[in-house]
Amino acid sequence: MKNIAQVIVDVPIAQPLDYRILDKRQGPAGAALLTSSENAASQMGTRAGPDATTGAGAVENPTEPDEANTAPAGPPIELGSLCVVPVGKRRHVGIVVGITRQSLVEDSRLRTIGARVCGPTLSGGWLELSRFAAEYYHFSWGEVALPALPPLLRRVPAARRGRALDAVEKIAPEGSGAAGSAWAATAAPGPALRAEQLAAIDVIIGSNGFAPFLLFGITGSGKTEVYLGAIERILLRSDQAQALLLVPEINLTPQLQARLCARFPRYGIVSLHSGLAPRERAAAWMQAHEGRAQIILGTRTAVFASLPRLRIIVVDEEHDSSFKSHGGVPYSARDLAVKRAQLEAIPVVLGSATPSLESWYQAQCGRYRLLALSQRAGASGADPVIETIDLHRYPADQGLAAPLRAALDDTLARGEQALIFINRRGFAPVLRCSACEWLSKCPRCDTYAAYHKVGATLRCHHCGWSRRVPAACPDCGNQDLQGVGQGTQRVEEAVRRSWPQARIARIDRDNAQGVRGASRTSAAFDAVHAGDVDILVGTQMITKGHDFQRVSTVGVLNADAQLVAADFRAPERLFAVLVQVAGRAGRAGQASRVLIQTRYPQHPLFAALARHSFGEFAQEQIEERRAARMPPFVHHALLTSAARTMEPALDFLRRCAALREHLDEAHAVTLYDAVPMPLARLASESRGQLLVEAVRRTDLHAFLDAWLPRLRAMGNRGILRWNVEVDPQAI
Ligand code: ADP
Ligand code: ZN
Ligand code: ZN
Repeated sequence: MKNIAQVIVDVPIAQPLDYRILDKRQGPAGAALLTSSENAASQMGTRAGPDATTGAGAVENPTEPDEANTAPAGPPIELGSLCVVPVGKRRHVGIVVGITRQSLVEDSRLRTIGARVCGPTLSGGWLELSRFAAEYYHFSWGEVALPALPPLLRRVPAARRGRALDAVEKIAPEGSGAAGSAWAATAAPGPALRAEQLAAIDVIIGSNGFAPFLLFGITGSGKTEVYLGAIERILLRSDQAQALLLVPEINLTPQLQARLCARFPRYGIVSLHSGLAPRERAAAWMQAHEGRAQIILGTRTAVFASLPRLRIIVVDEEHDSSFKSHGGVPYSARDLAVKRAQLEAIPVVLGSATPSLESWYQAQCGRYRLLALSQRAGASGADPVIETIDLHRYPADQGLAAPLRAALDDTLARGEQALIFINRRGFAPVLRCSACEWLSKCPRCDTYAAYHKVGATLRCHHCGWSRRVPAACPDCGNQDLQGVGQGTQRVEEAVRRSWPQARIARIDRDNAQGVRGASRTSAAFDAVHAGDVDILVGTQMITKGHDFQRVSTVGVLNADAQLVAADFRAPERLFAVLVQVAGRAGRAGQASRVLIQTRYPQHPLFAALARHSFGEFAQEQIEERRAARMPPFVHHALLTSAARTMEPALDFLRRCAALREHLDEAHAVTLYDAVPMPLARLASESRGQLLVEAVRRTDLHAFLDAWLPRLRAMGNRGILRWNVEVDPQAI
């Protein structure tokens, strides 16, 4: 009889754990189990229960460490079902990934599986995807699979098992109507597509099996219409088909969801992201899992949605860094989307105006098929003219150089709008004493606390430390403290001073905090849309998704910070941001200019930008990376460690490196020296890093497979923690 269940749980244990499945007819039935769950129930009742605080589906249960003699109640345990299992003294929700006859664990030590949790049975395909991700990122299978489920579904169930889920199932579909719903609204047809859009759709639809595409086109070139067209054709083929559409940010989902609902009123459409209330999220997830939703719109976690009839995946803004997860397993949802398409033998469309160099290179090599949209759709006319302002020649006056000031004058005179983009919030990045050397260092990080005039605080943007601005210099008592450099608040102030008659707004994260902040921000955006703002000052927040019609001038203030950054991906990110900012100008077809203040006007990045040639820029970057042996020509894993002080953090990494000598095989990888991370001290922790590099990916993984178990065995003596990241974004 097959009565051993292999179960994965959210703990760093390499192998699934074995549990005995009791025959239902033996032993006392569910009663005892319910009692033990009552205990959990009292802890789970409030939002602040263990699940909410730790994120793990584990409940401490000291009074009843094991459920050895209780038989599981409820539906039978099968492959892919969720079950409660004891691990040490805790109870976890785990996923059954195998059912076999025999266990290597001694019979007497074998514990009994607990009750099956009401909820989904995960498919073999889903298990395969999570297992792949675990192997690729070198985490345990359970550490990937459990967090990939909505929190509500992986809770250790309360007394009345399944109660939460019953509620979940009663929630109506979120979209305008599920398939087969009685009222079928009429679909709002999309625009008549251009030949290049239709051709792209044909190619996507005509593909067979796994087919990765890179859809390359500027903002407004009609990429979204291509996604929708392809999805439409796939749904026409089969009513049951499902499409997964991944987007970088939660706040982009409502807009797109509205567009989807208008376009596909007959289909179930759900959004999946962390901004949803736990119930909504679980309900949406279940709709996708049961095939009741055909179109699933989500942020990076949605790449793990359970989709029984997935036929196409789209990743919009595929270059966006938010597809990379931080904290937990550092996976790339973009990369996993491609892998998932491969596992399911379906097309995947990566779309961007500024693709990641990795994807661009794949297209160059012919592994991804490049689909290019060359024109702006609709009314939008000519591209903006992009110019640099040489700060050596035109020194900035309160942050703004003369040519930019002149351009703003003209814009206001014409009654048009201007944007000023500066990627730094606060008044000034640092406060300085005019009498001594004192600077507003963050006491917890290797960085400065920014001076926020609004609220009169010093704030560290890295660790969140803050305090009131001192009345006098803490070192010498001098009362003349001055902000050095520019932030959004200072630019706003300067603009108000220079153009007192203009209507001015500022949008940044400080401004957007909290409920009042959110409504203030959306009111500010509305005002810009309505034409009630002449000059908008803002951070990256203003660059995404907004279709301001009357903007004809964009000023960019601190591009140089990125230009000289040490990270080899910084130029790529800067280019993407500048393209995005430039895309805010001239939306209604009016002539428009983008003026970038810089000390490096000769930098080739600006030349490529001025020619609107991402291809040119990408080619240069790729050649640079080839020469410098950077990704995508080599593959990286980054081992990081954190300790109270730097020496033990580095010492740990050195000991890790030394373990290499004990491996049986020589691996074709390079281990670099252990060094402090670029921001070495963060939130009172010192952080070191060790880069592992291989020319071939398989070599990297073979090495990590052999090396990491030894690191784990060594434990984390002398340090707070360590972590490994495959394909790190920043090194
Ligand atoms: P992207 O996703 O590349 O930014 P969208 O697909 O959102 O571009 O298109 C931008 C705007 O142009 C949308 O309002 C869209 O409806 C419209 N549009 C797209 N393609 C066409 C077309 N062929 N004719 C007219 N309007 C179009
Ligand atoms: Zn001083
Ligand atoms: Zn700090």
